[in-house]
Order: sequence, then C-alpha cells, then structure tokens
Amino acid sequence: MQTDTPSQLPRSKLKSLLAIRDDAPRLSSEWLELMRFLASYYQRPLGESVIGSLPPRLRSVKPLPRKAVATSMASSPQEFKPAHTLTAAQADVVSRASASLGRFEAFLLHGVTGSGKTEVYLHLIARVLERGGQALVIVPEISLTPQLETRFRQTFPGAAIALLHSGLEDVARTSSWLAAARGDASIILGTRLAVLAPLPKLALVLIDEEHDTSFKQQEGLRYSGRDAAVYRAKLAGCPVLLGTATPSLESWSNWQQKRYVRLELPERAVPGARLPEVRVLDLRRETPEQGFTPSSVSAIAARLERGEQSLIFLNRRGYAPVLACEACGWAAGCARCSARMVMHAAAERSREPHGRLRCHHCGAEDAIPRACPTCGNVDLRPMGRGTQRIEETLGARFPAARLERIDRDSARRRSDLNRTLERAQRGEIDILVGTQLLAKGHDFPGLTLVVVLNADTALLSTDYRAAERLFAVLEQVAGRAGRRDRPGEVLVQTRYPEHPLFAALARHDYAGFAQSQLAERKAAGFPPYVFEAALRAEAPKLETAMRFLREAARRVDRPEGVQVYDPVPHVITRRAGYERAQLIMQSSSRPALQAYVGALGAQLFDAAHREVRWHLDVDPIEFD
Ligand code: ADP
Ligand code: ZN
Ligand code: ZN
Repeated sequence: MQTDTPSQLPRSKLKSLLAIRDDAPRLSSEWLELMRFLASYYQRPLGESVIGSLPPRLRSVKPLPRKAVATSMASSPQEFKPAHTLTAAQADVVSRASASLGRFEAFLLHGVTGSGKTEVYLHLIARVLERGGQALVIVPEISLTPQLETRFRQTFPGAAIALLHSGLEDVARTSSWLAAARGDASIILGTRLAVLAPLPKLALVLIDEEHDTSFKQQEGLRYSGRDAAVYRAKLAGCPVLLGTATPSLESWSNWQQKRYVRLELPERAVPGARLPEVRVLDLRRETPEQGFTPSSVSAIAARLERGEQSLIFLNRRGYAPVLACEACGWAAGCARCSARMVMHAAAERSREPHGRLRCHHCGAEDAIPRACPTCGNVDLRPMGRGTQRIEETLGARFPAARLERIDRDSARRRSDLNRTLERAQRGEIDILVGTQLLAKGHDFPGLTLVVVLNADTALLSTDYRAAERLFAVLEQVAGRAGRRDRPGEVLVQTRYPEHPLFAALARHDYAGFAQSQLAERKAAGFPPYVFEAALRAEAPKLETAMRFLREAARRVDRPEGVQVYDPVPHVITRRAGYERAQLIMQSSSRPALQAYVGALGAQLFDAAHREVRWHLDVDPIEFD
C-alpha cells in the first residue's frame, strides 16, 4: 500500500496508527483492488470488509503466535501421482482449459455426476504447480474439504496445501492464511472465505459445485464467493473453472451469452458406470406407511439382501415438523418467530420421543409440554416426519441393518461427520438417512439406491428459484447412486408425478430443464434477465420497518430503467422477535442498479436509524 498519497478525507476523520505489523506479508495492490470492488459492489464499508476478510488473529495489533508464523510450508519438487489415465472427454477438457493458463478465461465445466470432475481439477492443478503458481479451489461446505484434501495429498505428495475455512482453529487458520499470502502454499483449498486471502502467485481458480447457494454470504459483506472468485481470476489474469452437474441458471446464461466457455463431460468416468434410472412413485396410488411406499420398502430390502447401500433423502431435520393437539387444533409455535417449533427426539435412536422443541429460525428451545396449553389434552401428537423419525421407522423395520443419519444435528461435531462419511465410503453403513448435507459431492462406491421422500413442498413454493434448487438437489442426490459397475436406481415419492421437473430429472436432462426455466424467468422478468438488489429492515413493530423502507425509497431519485417495488413483509415475518420487511429493486442494467443502490446506501449510512436494523443485499438469493 502506498504511504505518500495525501488523504482526501478531513483530518478529523483520520485516526493515528497504533502499530505496524511486520510479522505478516504486505498486502498487494491487486488484493486491495479486490476488496475495494467487493466493498463497493456489495455496499459495505471498505474497512469492515478488509477486517472481516482477515483471520481473527490478524484483526488486532497483538503479535502473532509464534507457531503461526513459524510453520513453514515450502513445497518440495513437484511430484504428480494421478489416480487414473484420463478419459478422452477429460483429456479434452484439461487441454482446452490449460491452453488459457496465463490469461483470464472463464469455463463452465458441465459434467454429469460421477463424470470425474475431480480428476480434471487434479490434472489442471498439476500444470499450475509445474509453473510454480498457486491454485485456489473452493467448495461450498466445510464437510467437502477433507475428501478433497486427501485426494490432493495423495496426488501431490510434495505440495504445500493450505486449508482455509471457518472450522479451523485460530492458529491453524492464521498459519494457512500466512502461507497463502506469502505464496508458500501452492494449493489453497477452502470455502468462500478463501477467495478473500491474498494469493500473490494465483494461476488457477476452481469452483466446485458452483451452483450451490452456500457460496453466498448471508451477513456483513454479503458477497457471492463464486462471483468474487471469477472476478479474482480476472484481476489475476488466470483461468477460472466453474464445475457442476447442475449449473446455476446465472452461469448457464453466462455461457449462452458467451461470457463463459462451456466444457462438457457427458458421461460417467468409470467404464460401464451409467447415470441412475429415475422412477417416480405416485403417492396418490401407493399409500405410504410411515412415510414409505411399499415399492420403496421393498427396494431397500432388496439392497440389504445384496449387500448394497441405500440413501434415504429428506430435507427436513428433527423428529417431526409440528407438535399438535388434535382435540383443539393447537400447535407448538415459537414465541419469537412466526413459525412452528420443530420437535426433536431426545437421544440418538430414542424410541420415545421425549426430546425438545426447537425453532429452526431463531434457535429457541423449549421443553415438550405434558399437556395442551389451551385445552389440557395430554395426548399431543407429532405430525409429519423429519430425519430422526425416518431413522426410527427404518430401525424398527430393518433391525439388522447398519443405519446412520447425517444432518446438521448429527453433524454437530465435525469429526463425527467425517468419520461417518468415511465409514459410508468403506461400505460399513447399509442405510444412510440424510438431508442435502448428503447430496453434495460424496462418492459412496456401494450405493445403488436413492429414495427421495418428500420433494413436494419445494414444488409449491412461491420463490422463483425453488424449482432450480429442487432440480439441482435431486440430480445431485440421485448422482450418488450407481457410481461404479452396479446400476443405480432413484425412487421419487410425490403427489405430482406428472410435473415436468420430474420428467427432466428422469432423462437427466439439465439442458432441457434450464431452457424451460429460463423461458419462464424471461417472461416474468426475473434474474438472470434482470439484476436485483434488496433493502431489508427489521424492527420490533412491522409498521416501523415498512415505514423505514417506504421513506428510504422516497429519499433517492430513481433513475430511468430501475424498478423499485413496494415494500413487503417477509414470508416468515417475525424472526427472533423482529418483524421483517424488504423492498426489491430491479434493473436490466447492472450499472444503473449499482448507481441507485449506491445512492440509497449512502443516504442510509449517513442518517441514524433508531429502532430499525437494515441492510442491503446485492444479487440476493434468499427471500424468506
Ligand atoms: P464428479 O466429481 O464429476 O461427480 P468424481 O470426480 O467423484 O466425479 O469421479 C467419479 C468416480 O470416477 C471416482 O470414483 C473416480 O475415481 C472415477 N474416475 C475419475 N476419472 C476416471 C478415469 N479417467 N478412469 C476411471 N475412473 C475414473
Ligand atoms: Zn388442545
Ligand atoms: Zn424462533
């Protein structure tokens, strides 16, 4: 950073230096430009964005722990031990993408599940290590890092690998960050926050599962890790590869508009491995018992007999989503949110559901009442099913099966999750029950059956992105089946068997699905055909939040070509005691929207707003 430029700020706004850090590497102007861009694009103060991007230890002027500074990460001569000879399709992708090493180019790697995208990443990284560059690899979830780390260590025994995610101990994260920033680490593997690390020798950016919404930060600097990574590659003048079986419609449309080059892996990599067969089970014809149709039960039984694995997918954790009184209609609700409390069973595998009530929106907990608080009825009923209840049902139905549940509750301790995943990979688990935590990126060799229990809630959603997400999660979870020589089967239980989404899924026809979704988005004027931003406010009273939004919109002149909609309350209006509302802004011109949002932000930052908490969200993806 330059020190001799005169400040444009008045003296009163300047602070004095407390100390100069000389135990950390200097930050480059390219890095500062990245932070400037993100702060201005996502409407947050630069200082806050910079501080937030540093590992906690570097946010203060206290000297760094010696262990963090001392850990050296020098790479030894590069050794490359690939696990496979590339298929022709993989080799094409590698040669096309590596042809642009040394300059910016964005590639959408559209490879079906099991097509060997990881192998492609490894070969590209090898080219980068040969040239002494750094490769940045980002994944949507911490739980996906261990298996990739293992692959990297096996393939590049001499390479210095730095992990960067929020699950690391302070010292480990600091020393990773330092190794990345000094250019000592040659592979940087992490979640979205890794995109914000200084990388002086950056030569390749890989974004795995690029469609995943977890790349978007939902607080503070609300950046998209994916978009920031693409911008980063542009700054560094290096190629970026966005890998997925189900591209986001944004990336798909970027390909259609020739901003990205699409590279395809249309087949599975293992010789003989096919995409699984998808069958839709009509819940109106086959009556489910405790959540399972007879066909699903016999399909699971057949897998157990053959010693193959099954995965039961249900995107709802807990025991039951509702605890209700049938006598008077009362249902347990959260005192601080406009939402029901979810019933959680006590211990793992508990047969008696005397657990607790939990709110999935604010985290509130309550004991399960002995009797209905309105009418005194002691016979309260859990209604509907979550993963715990499904686990209980399966345990009773198949007592000899080795059964495990994987969701945010069972995965509280990260080491437990990793151990369970490893056991599943080794075939030591017969039936896996889980949420979308299980859908992402995992490779379970013995898995041949996936049963999708209840996908219908997403079909009925008012969120225009619900269908895109549902297709992605179903194609991903389906993609866990039959990844080796034994064919996979996917059973989808639904009340809407004729829905076009399921037909596209059965054909594994992402392109067809994307085309119909994009046509709908275009007709309705939704992204990616327009750009969006949201101004959100929350206050103890809904009217306060609504008034704040109305006045904010009135205060700034709206330029031609920018649409500002009336403020509306959130679907789940009250959360953690605050009433929430939002105002959506749209434009087909990104600069016009940016200018408007910037002016709005400047106004709001300047005035004090008591009683209201507010934020701007650029390219928002969550609207609940
Ligand atoms: P994806 O990430 O595209 O879903 P993976 O990278 O997990 O797919 O690969 C799926 C499986 O195919 C893995 O078991 C991997 O070892 C195997 N595989 C990848 N490339 C090849 C290849 N060239 N020849 C044989 N098997 C391969
Ligand atoms: Zn009652
Ligand atoms: Zn709550």
